[in-house]
Amino acid sequence: MKAVITGGAGFIGSHLSDHLIAQGHEVVVIDDLSTGSLDNLSRIRSSPALRFVQGDILDRDLVDSLVEGADAVYHLAAAVGVHTIVDNPLRSLRTNLHGTENVVEAAVRHRVPYMVASTSEVYGKNDADGLTEHDDRIYGSPLKSRWSYAAAKGLDELVAYVHGTESDVPCVITRFFNVVGPRQTGRYGMVVPRFVDQAVSGEPITVYGTGTQRRCFGSVFDVVPTLPRLLETPEAYHQAVNLGGHEEISIKGLADRVVELTGSESEITYMDYEEAYGEGYEDMQRRYPDTSLARRLIGYEPTRDLNAIIDSIIEYRRSVEAVPTPA
Ligand code: UDP
Repeated sequence: MKAVITGGAGFIGSHLSDHLIAQGHEVVVIDDLSTGSLDNLSRIRSSPALRFVQGDILDRDLVDSLVEGADAVYHLAAAVGVHTIVDNPLRSLRTNLHGTENVVEAAVRHRVPYMVASTSEVYGKNDADGLTEHDDRIYGSPLKSRWSYAAAKGLDELVAYVHGTESDVPCVITRFFNVVGPRQTGRYGMVVPRFVDQAVSGEPITVYGTGTQRRCFGSVFDVVPTLPRLLETPEAYHQAVNLGGHEEISIKGLADRVVELTGSESEITYMDYEEAYGEGYEDMQRRYPDTSLARRLIGYEPTRDLNAIIDSIIEYRRSVEAVPTPA
């Protein structure tokens, strides 16, 4: 089987590339290396089963030529990370909106089953206890930069869904809830690698807001193997499926945990959202997934606990060169 992975040199995309190649498949990665890195592909770089194409998903002809003849498309390329979205709103919108349209249209044109990566951000400020796939989205103003990512991803889901149902080409939308693991960089906002970087290099750990906001972190190693399985499961077609972990923690609790697991002497500091992200920033207080749909469809059951997840990130961080974390 030949799979095209957009964003295949990124965090989740590179783990999926590893996984599919280990299973004996061919993988074509398209990545512009804006936030992804060839280092992420080092394990499979010399494999004849990997073809790497440096390119932009906004390049319609390139996307079309790669998708033609493929057996599956995994669309993971996106402008990600709160700092990326807030600092480059127009570029992020183009990539996340038109890029997805290009990929989905190519998949439908060539009748290739496709997966589109979405995010728990689509639930916005809905802090329900166990968000299910049909729960409402509660956004702030679209003019607040924070919500532009959620707005674009919400439209991506619609693009994926409408094209998929009208053409009857199989598609699955996956909503990732704070998926973390080795290779994720803290440069663009993600809190776990940021805290780990700060703790390992002895810098202050920057908790934004009060630190009482809660998240539930999922392991990339639990999530990645589910992606091809969902795409092979007809009951999953034309649905959005939550994927993530089950162990919830406050951001202050996360900072304490990272200090404990690294044995760091870093102090924990607090920073206003405005100072961290600019004016008008809104955070979500809580985001906890109900993953029973994934369990029903493919028996999804996350197996790694938070300490094991953080330990794997610490180990990775110590194995690569120090990368400075911007404030
Ligand atoms: N956060 C933090 N310090 C950081 C980066 C993030 O306290 O250096 C907070 C952020 O405000 C949010 C939580 O950690 O409340 C998760 O942030 P992330 O960007 O990882 O994911 P998301 O907000 O999309 O859930």
